[in-house]
Amino acid sequence: MPTPDLSTRLLHHPYRPPEGFEAVAPGVHKASTVIFPDVQALRSRDWKDKSGYTYGLHGTPTTFTLEERIATLEGGRFCVLAPSGLSAISLVDMAFLRQGEQMLLPDNAYGPGKAFAEAELRQWGVQIGYYDPMDPADLASRLTPATRLVWLEAPGSITLEFPDLPALTEVVRCHNAGQVADRPVITVLDNTWGAGLAFCAFDLGVDVSMQALTKYPSGGADVLMGSVVTCDPALHRQVLLCHMRLGLGVAANDAELVLRGLPTVTLRYQAQDQATRELAQWMQTQEGVVQVLHPALRGSPGHAFWKRDARAAACLFSVVFDERFAPAQMDAFCDSLSLFQLGWSWAGPISLCAPYDVQSIRSLTTWPHRGGLVRFAVGLESVEDLRADLAQGLSKLVS
Ligand SMILES: *Cc1c(COP(=O)(O)O)cnc(C)c1O
Repeated sequence: MPTPDLSTRLLHHPYRPPEGFEAVAPGVHKASTVIFPDVQALRSRDWKDKSGYTYGLHGTPTTFTLEERIATLEGGRFCVLAPSGLSAISLVDMAFLRQGEQMLLPDNAYGPGKAFAEAELRQWGVQIGYYDPMDPADLASRLTPATRLVWLEAPGSITLEFPDLPALTEVVRCHNAGQVADRPVITVLDNTWGAGLAFCAFDLGVDVSMQALTKYPSGGADVLMGSVVTCDPALHRQVLLCHMRLGLGVAANDAELVLRGLPTVTLRYQAQDQATRELAQWMQTQEGVVQVLHPALRGSPGHAFWKRDARAAACLFSVVFDERFAPAQMDAFCDSLSLFQLGWSWAGPISLCAPYDVQSIRSLTTWPHRGGLVRFAVGLESVEDLRADLAQGLSKLVS
């Protein structure tokens, strides 16, 4: 063979860096194509047990490393990464549900997950039902032989009711024990709020734990990712194969951002927890406030369950305002805040707020309040500055 052209030599370069490089940050490996040494390896290599690499979508050292760390964070054994929290939700739904089966959602479920159920899943012949998450007997009454998947959320989206998770998972276990079907009901928790830090989902009887890594594990408000963690090899395999067939993958640079966030996740969780409790308690004493919803506050729905089952709380609290304030006044209050910015998501560095009309997002239960609700997500600013911002906004609202 003649000496190859420069373009060829730049690509097929003989240099291999020495083995044994170790650094604090895991390497960022990028690939669609993975190179095999021979045809035998190309035919036989398996990615499903992480014993080898076959294609970028099936995992790289970077994504395998992140999966192992997220499994550890959740106290589980197996992890699959998805490109967003919402895609992790739809992945779980598609992995476990067949036409004619039923999925039950808590009435305070995360809205976009509910939208996927109501549009795609219903259209594909899956039955969608709702249960009252604060009433295990209500869940028991809604389980049928067709039920396949029960979603749990602790606490509920926006309104932050903390359910009795062991009682809810026990209801499902009893139902399964009384069924002859070979497809038992699976419980899946949206564990974005607890993040694996407030409690271990698997200790509370949950089969599958899904998380929006977009929130705490990232912490930067700059990346979207989701995870699905299990302790059960058979459940994991079902999720993994569906994930592969759907072609879901995460980019190396995104995995890098989450790996960069993870070392500080415990510290951030703790700091934001403390700041949030201080602000939530202070809000309770303010004029025009009817109730502050936060699982660690006495009187907040499910406080006793939170106290029994959790050791920490996330950066969210919601405030129910007096009904004398019109929706436009609630909007103006949110606009008047300067440190609390308007936007979705949470657990990032910047504090956020957004007004909600709760009854409009309920499918089953009646929301007991008539006044407006604002949800706050506390970032990493000084608590004193955040309190001053809330105080100036409240003074304009009540004046
Ligand atoms: C943000 C969030 C999700 C979805 O995560 P994305 O990455 O934004 O798709 C799911 N569940 C909960 C509880 C969330 O807060």
